[in-house]
Amino acid sequence: MTNEDLTRRDLSALWHPCTQMKDHEQLPLIPIKRAQGVWLEDFDGKRYLDAISSWWVNLFGHCNPRINAALRDQLDQLEHVLLAGFTHEPVIQLSERLLALAPQRLARCFYADSGSAAVEIALKMSYHYWRNAGQTNKTKFITLTNNYHGETLGALAVGNVALYKEIYAPLLMQTISVPSPDCFYRETGESCAAYSTRLFTHMEQALKKHAHEACAVIVEPLVQCAGGMRMYDPVYLTLLREACTRYGVHLIADEIAVGFGRTGKMFACDHAAITPDFLCLGKGLTGGYLPLSAVLTTNEIYQAFYDDYATLKAFLHSHSYTGNPLACRAALATLDIFEQDKVLENNRKLAMHMADATARFEDHPHVAEVRQRGMILAIEMVKDKAARTPYPWQERRGLAVYCNALEQGVLLRPLGDVIYFMPPYVITPEQIGHLADVAGKAIHVATREAL
Ligand code: PMP
Repeated sequence: MTNEDLTRRDLSALWHPCTQMKDHEQLPLIPIKRAQGVWLEDFDGKRYLDAISSWWVNLFGHCNPRINAALRDQLDQLEHVLLAGFTHEPVIQLSERLLALAPQRLARCFYADSGSAAVEIALKMSYHYWRNAGQTNKTKFITLTNNYHGETLGALAVGNVALYKEIYAPLLMQTISVPSPDCFYRETGESCAAYSTRLFTHMEQALKKHAHEACAVIVEPLVQCAGGMRMYDPVYLTLLREACTRYGVHLIADEIAVGFGRTGKMFACDHAAITPDFLCLGKGLTGGYLPLSAVLTTNEIYQAFYDDYATLKAFLHSHSYTGNPLACRAALATLDIFEQDKVLENNRKLAMHMADATARFEDHPHVAEVRQRGMILAIEMVKDKAARTPYPWQERRGLAVYCNALEQGVLLRPLGDVIYFMPPYVITPEQIGHLADVAGKAIHVATREAL
């Protein structure tokens, strides 16, 4: 079996996610045969360093021996059982351990199978809480520009990345959108904290105006990932938590991408020592093994649903695979690794290596910014450095980086013209150095000529 055999069969049977399928008339599709650690290997024996953790899910490498062993063990005991009326040990243990790790006052875990589904749950629970509390006027959500929360219609509605949202606009609920504190737009000489604080006035105004009709504010804490790894300061979260409480509006923290150590702390909310009313987790929750997501919430919210059946206050939301035991075991094994290894401490060193290896790009004539928060590092390519004018999107410079990096044996998958590293935590300093060299060559090629 070769890459070519599989590509041919694939392209006559599949429809791939987030893909213009016609691109594959030119772009190679890469069938992966096996993977180990940071490496993916295709059917022709070529290896690729997975610098983006396979869409930000993988934490401790592919085919991690400890997670594999836990799954093998679970497989012989219980593969799945419904979670309504029934329960199992992995989901109970996982809930206890997540609550112990998460910001204080989060007291209940509700499960789903994708990040988008977790976001839908948080939105529905928030709305339903206010309704159960007699506040039927609260039906709206406040969002930030450039936020991303998933692709299902509710999650898409509270997101603001035009590329994914605009076409579906007629199908989506209306939201109240507030300018993002994205520090890319700070004035020269202005600190990120000062800019994020300054931008908070928009949120304060929106809360003041809409508190009576708003269920919740939803944010991606600190890093707007799909929106191009744009970053803001923790002070914004501090101000937001205080204001949400003051105005009686929930705070939903979507940590699906930034949770589990990506930002340098276990959760991004920890940088501001805040507790959201809803914490959405996904992606790295199972170490990148199986689809599982969770919404953690407070006892206060839980209690608003807890009543006699006939009051019809229950949260009657479900997914077939809610709390799947195999996925929970993968999550438990992932948490074991966090406990047994000094993961966050080691990540601090890796993050410094990432900074050192990429500092040189600051001076590149087509790099507007190199920014970093913990294990997320982004390099933004622009046409004009001084004016920060982007390249016309039709030139697809990011795609040129993708293709060139693949030739060099690295999986980078830029978001537009933003190249980023979000590697598994088992990457070595040498591999980080290699990644930076590959990115450097790819940027050189992509900024010299359009595709
Ligand atoms: N929220 C955020 C912040 C995300 O980055 C993503 C996925 N990229 C989602 C939600 C949606 O998760 P999923 O793709 O698992 O539905």
